[in-house]
Amino acid sequence: MSRQTKIVATLGPATTDEASLRGIVDAGVDMVRMNLSHGDHDEHRDREQTLRRTARAAGRVVGMLCDLQGPKIRVERFAGGSVELDEGAAFFLDPTLDGDAGSSEGVGVAYAGLPTDVAPGDILLLADGLIRLEVERIEGTRIHTRVTVGGTLGDRKGINRLGGGLSVRALTDKDRVDIKLAAELEADYMAVSFPRDGADIDEARALLREAGGHGGIVAKIERHEAVEALDEIMEAADAVMIARGDLAVEIGDAELPGVQKRIMRMARERDCVVITATQMMQSMVDSPMPTRAEVLDVANAVLDGTDAVMLSEETAMGQYPAETVGAMSRVCIGAETYADETRPSGGLKPGVHFDRIDEAIAKTAITTANSLGAKAIAALTESGATAMWMSRIGTDIPIYALSEQPRTRRKVTLYRGVNPIRFDPTQREHDAVNREAVAELKGLGAVSDDDLVVITKGDLAGEQGGTNAMKVVKVSEIVR
Ligand code: PEP
Repeated sequence: MSRQTKIVATLGPATTDEASLRGIVDAGVDMVRMNLSHGDHDEHRDREQTLRRTARAAGRVVGMLCDLQGPKIRVERFAGGSVELDEGAAFFLDPTLDGDAGSSEGVGVAYAGLPTDVAPGDILLLADGLIRLEVERIEGTRIHTRVTVGGTLGDRKGINRLGGGLSVRALTDKDRVDIKLAAELEADYMAVSFPRDGADIDEARALLREAGGHGGIVAKIERHEAVEALDEIMEAADAVMIARGDLAVEIGDAELPGVQKRIMRMARERDCVVITATQMMQSMVDSPMPTRAEVLDVANAVLDGTDAVMLSEETAMGQYPAETVGAMSRVCIGAETYADETRPSGGLKPGVHFDRIDEAIAKTAITTANSLGAKAIAALTESGATAMWMSRIGTDIPIYALSEQPRTRRKVTLYRGVNPIRFDPTQREHDAVNREAVAELKGLGAVSDDDLVVITKGDLAGEQGGTNAMKVVKVSEIVR
């Protein structure tokens, strides 16, 4: 049985060589994430080349997402690499302290604005929330705190403020350089880390376009402010990523499940694609089997309507990258068979309004296919937009995005239930397009003689935004 939910896998040392990449591609990866927080540009260039070669050899379409590092605020370094912080001890943070001079008394910070962003009583969470500091007073550039939860604090660990509110801008100088790399590598998506609002997304998109990049923009929801600004962020972005690592630190882990479900519901209602990320199968970094809790976590995201589930450390540094993708795929397929019982939007809402003709055709095609029990939906698409709209409406019927554009075929690898197929309508007689599209599906074993297929297309083949027609055909009556 084919899987609808897409799998995004982060590349790293465990998935750099061709054999290990081939392992995760064969296990079913749909899109890879290049994490630009690690590695230099040449490393990413090499990875991109290996990825393209591997996908070609495997006969698979695999998309690519470049993830910008963003303004993660970090402590600087300690003279001895790390310190033990005891509960009740005094500890200071100071952006003017020498970067290598950290000690058990205090440490430098790589963000000059921190002393003006915090106030007495604030809780600072370090090292993904393992260590807690309460701000007592600020003297000049020095933030004096008390350790309320102690532990080992190492070099360059992250700092978050509970409740968010740090004013640092989303795009750093490094990000601006990395955006040019994303354009050069022809990334299908570029993820913006720690955006605060829609303006951060607009700026990232403008910079990517200026650099010649065509990719969609993914907004990582990992700041408290971003949760407050979901409406405008979803309006500005092509997709959102529920970046649960940093998000949980900022909003508190007890809030995370409810916020995850709210993001998914809002994304579906607003035609925004959604990726669920971080620690989905964390134990598989060093175990060949997921825990029951991880199985439930992946399955719940599938049942709540996520487009994609993402692996981070599991495939970047883990011992079992291919096994993890295989396990995730199996769990997604299992959960999808129960999706009817929980699907948030099984069809169009009463009184629905469409702004565009192609959107109306795409969405009503799904309602038509659902009610006729069609076997497949063939969207002849230039930009992939019709396939995206189709995948917003709940259906178990596979959607095939038929496009001559390689970029479009890679872009749709993120959309739930959408399968890319190479097909060029401009090279065919107008009257033959339907027949040949259905013949393509039949050749792939996706449909047989008695099946119905819903086809959408435009009168002017090869033009973006031109879908204006839907046709329902019986396979045996069109392909002989
Ligand atoms: C996260 O914080 O959950 C996340 C996906 O971001 P990163 O992996 O870049 O820290």
